[in-house]
Amino acid sequence: MGRRPIVMANWKMNKLPDEARAYIKDVAAVVQAYPDVEPILAGQDVLLQTMVDAAEGTHIEIGAENVYWKEEGAYTGETSPKVVASLGVQYVIIGHSERRHYFRETDEMVNLKALAALKNHLSPIIALDESIQVVSPNAHMHWIVNQVIEALKGVTNDQMAQVVLAYEPTQAIGSGMAMNADLAQKDLYMIRETVSDMFNAEIAENLRILYGGSVKPENVYEIMRQTDIDGVLVGNSALDPDNFAELVKLAH
Ligand code: PGA
Repeated sequence: MGRRPIVMANWKMNKLPDEARAYIKDVAAVVQAYPDVEPILAGQDVLLQTMVDAAEGTHIEIGAENVYWKEEGAYTGETSPKVVASLGVQYVIIGHSERRHYFRETDEMVNLKALAALKNHLSPIIALDESIQVVSPNAHMHWIVNQVIEALKGVTNDQMAQVVLAYEPTQAIGSGMAMNADLAQKDLYMIRETVSDMFNAEIAENLRILYGGSVKPENVYEIMRQTDIDGVLVGNSALDPDNFAELVKLAH
């Protein structure tokens, strides 16, 4: 069976509840014609209940943008994966480069969060970035492979069926300049090979890996036609519901 493509919007810290409802209503009408594509919308915690309610009866899935690795306790201001899952949320982005950069999330924290999400039946979309100034092809490869290994430590073979990876080169995020699709393919191939070495070839073959960084309707076709790219994680362009619906159509 082929890997079902994902088109995922990362709203980041945008949208009011009314805007979230209107967006979901707009895109639901279009994306229902493309059930072979999985549309996922990720929003900030305070919007999640609104988003889940608005998406009811559609095949749109909802994702959180972050969770903590503890389920409960005295952690003022943090969000429990158990509570997020209880709302009917299916996905959570873990280790987005903005979290790694502005909130100093380390590979170890990313790993703890991914494990906590899985334990609570949330599928983690684990974001891998490239936040060092890569000086050589070897350093580049080492950086990516190492992030995959650190993020997936302790994840079981069975749990891997719930995991999605997202490769988002830092320079491409929010810049308007997506990475060259052929070069992105090379990196995603390397990520899949790393997963094959860590787990097995079948798990690697079934794993969905997304590309993120300045994806828009104009470049999504070229990106999606790459062998190892199974979907896209989209920020700016997907703030507009028409663009999101267009991305789903083009990914189909
Ligand atoms: P962008 O963001 O599409 O605006 O580059 C992608 C992301 O940060 O996930």
